[in-house]
Amino acid sequence: MEECVFCRIINGKVPAEKVYEDDKVISFLDIMPANKGHCLVVPKKHTQNMMEMDDEDLAATIHAAKKIAKALSLSFGAGFNMVMNNGKEAGQVVGHSHVHIIPRFQKDRLRIKWSHLKYEGNEMKEYADKIKKFI
Ligand code: 5GP
Ligand code: ZN
Repeated sequence: MEECVFCRIINGKVPAEKVYEDDKVISFLDIMPANKGHCLVVPKKHTQNMMEMDDEDLAATIHAAKKIAKALSLSFGAGFNMVMNNGKEAGQVVGHSHVHIIPRFQKDRLRIKWSHLKYEGNEMKEYADKIKKFI
């Protein structure tokens, strides 16, 4: 089976600007950053999305994401957005689980904002009930 691009980075077959690595996780700069310093935090074990990740890898990824976020904040004095796209519908392009840590600056031009909808009548409870059935 052909390796995905992040597996190829993990195996050293494709170069990347690494900022962190441990036995479970690697982090490198996104090649097309939303803001400069945008990092990807990537579990070394290939899974398609968060649903497929085991809890240990998920914990290691989030733990590393916090380290990266702290480093971004110390190096650039920046806030950050932590984003994980899961599924094509959510904008996932690379099919290897990963978390984005995007540094945010006072007057940057990045917009990660959505317009707000309204629930009608009983809809809010109906949505909560649908979700709770599967938890
Ligand atoms: P997604 O939309 O799947 O959540 O984000 C994938 C991200 O991976 C994109 O922001 C894209 O710029 C980044 N990316 C894709 N290919 C490469 C690559 O070969 N090297 C690096 N460093 N980043 C990549
Ligand atoms: Zn992969």
